[in-house]
Amino acid sequence: MTDSVRKVVNAFFALDERDQQAAMSLVLHKYWQGTSDEQPDVHVSRGEVDALVTALTRDVRATVGPGYEHLISSTAEDHLRFGNPHDNYATRVVADLQQQFHDQFIDTSWPECPMHGRHPLWFHAGFWSCVQPVVKIKLGELAPR
Ligand SMILES: [Zn+2]
Repeated sequence: MTDSVRKVVNAFFALDERDQQAAMSLVLHKYWQGTSDEQPDVHVSRGEVDALVTALTRDVRATVGPGYEHLISSTAEDHLRFGNPHDNYATRVVADLQQQFHDQFIDTSWPECPMHGRHPLWFHAGFWSCVQPVVKIKLGELAPR
């Protein structure tokens, strides 16, 4: 192990459990993005934009409440005009909206993981997912293969 790796590992274990979860979630999310199997969208149709805005609006209303319709549609339009065509359109829009929710303190863990509750879900290939399933089995109680 190099010194820089050891430093990162030590810093990680110096965090409390909540921050460790957040750090882990972020690292896995970045790793995932780097190995993305999603297709880049060179051409995004009006129908795809509308479907994304409709689904996102439904999720935001359900979790945060109404009042963000304009933010959602303007974020979707911005990425249509200025986005990088080599990335997946929906992923860019969702990641940007999520970042705005976190940065503006609208909801710093949006959308909160229904399983663990203390960290956001990440959007990938059409699904919200948690990257850290908690597995905890008592010593001596592992199921036989
Ligand atoms: Zn979770």
